[in-house]
Amino acid sequence: MNSSDNNEPSQPLKAETTLVTAGRDTKAQKGFVNPPVVHGSTVLYPTAEDLHAHRGEYQYGRRGTPTTKALQQALMALEGPQCAGVGLAPSGLSAISTALLAVLKSGDHLLVCDNAYRPTRNFCEGLLSRYGVATTYFDPLIGPGIAELFKPNTRAVLVEAPGSQTFEMPDIPLIASVAHERGALVIDDNTWATPLYHRSLDQGVDISMQAATKYIGGHSDIMFGTISANARAWPLISEAIQLLGICAGPDDVFLALRGLRTLAVRLAQHHRSGLEMARWLAARPEVTRVLHPALESDPGHAIWKRDFTGASGLFSIVLKPAPQKAVDALLDTVKLFGMGYSWGGFESLVIPFDCEPYRTATKWSPGGPTLRLHIGLENVDDLKADLERGFAAFNAA
Ligand SMILES: *Cc1c(COP(=O)(O)O)cnc(C)c1O
Repeated sequence: MNSSDNNEPSQPLKAETTLVTAGRDTKAQKGFVNPPVVHGSTVLYPTAEDLHAHRGEYQYGRRGTPTTKALQQALMALEGPQCAGVGLAPSGLSAISTALLAVLKSGDHLLVCDNAYRPTRNFCEGLLSRYGVATTYFDPLIGPGIAELFKPNTRAVLVEAPGSQTFEMPDIPLIASVAHERGALVIDDNTWATPLYHRSLDQGVDISMQAATKYIGGHSDIMFGTISANARAWPLISEAIQLLGICAGPDDVFLALRGLRTLAVRLAQHHRSGLEMARWLAARPEVTRVLHPALESDPGHAIWKRDFTGASGLFSIVLKPAPQKAVDALLDTVKLFGMGYSWGGFESLVIPFDCEPYRTATKWSPGGPTLRLHIGLENVDDLKADLERGFAAFNAA
């Protein structure tokens, strides 16, 4: 079935157009541009024969609705030709845990990059270790050295590019080729770039997940996760979703699809404003380092340039050594930068972080307090003025 209501285009559509057109079935939507929000569990079968054969486009609410189908088709089109299916989950973390449970079994070994999202590590140390899966963490910048970490029972490698606090850039195509030689699958937490700026399935990744809570939702109003998989991994993902009973609420599915329609314009602005703020911060005397792979000076820049087509609005800074009360003075002074977890919405955020206590394969010692910034859709002049007031308070404390 054509995923778009337009006539078949003569050339492949560009991503911005795909985001607008994919997953729209105007006829099924009775002329409306958007699909209905289907709240439903039971699906009625017209005849006993249909019931026995499980015949019909939909069987049961958990297994899919016209709303989930529209979102899945749109995401598949965005991920590109390698994508064999997209699973929907109630949060980004549940997308990660579902993907890991789908591919691993007791006795397996898992490789996880040391800059991975902390709750991902917690899942590995918590449930996975209890179920007999051992995890080894690796330096995201390990390069070809990753080959030495494989064991006969290594079943999967989980990467995050860039890590969402410290922004190191693992070499995904390299890791994928080593993993595939050894029969392991590659899972990528692609939340930072989204499939719009990083088509990870095209680069050898088998399972690409999104905390759609972030940029796909884009408005800080949903919890949502997606799991995209290639033909090799999709049967495993699909089976795990059914067995675990993973599904997402209809209103959140609708909001994720609505977010997707404007993803390209929002991300373009996050990219522009993020880079402008990163450059401005790099020139500040209070800042010793800016961790942003789209900056030419960043150690991950070459990989970012090769594998990504854009950057989002999330990066970190290292401040010159200062007491906690100076950092707190900055945090308490800024008004446009809210303090809170998550990111990817329209609003700017700032959060202090310290990943030193839980890194195991690498040592994180930045030499000063660290802040993670999310650059939202406000005017950058206002954001600079806000941070200037924050730095004045930092310097005075
Ligand atoms: C937020 C986040 C997640 C988890 O998403 P939730 O929807 O909050 O569960 C996973 N990975 C990364 C990189 C994230 O930033």
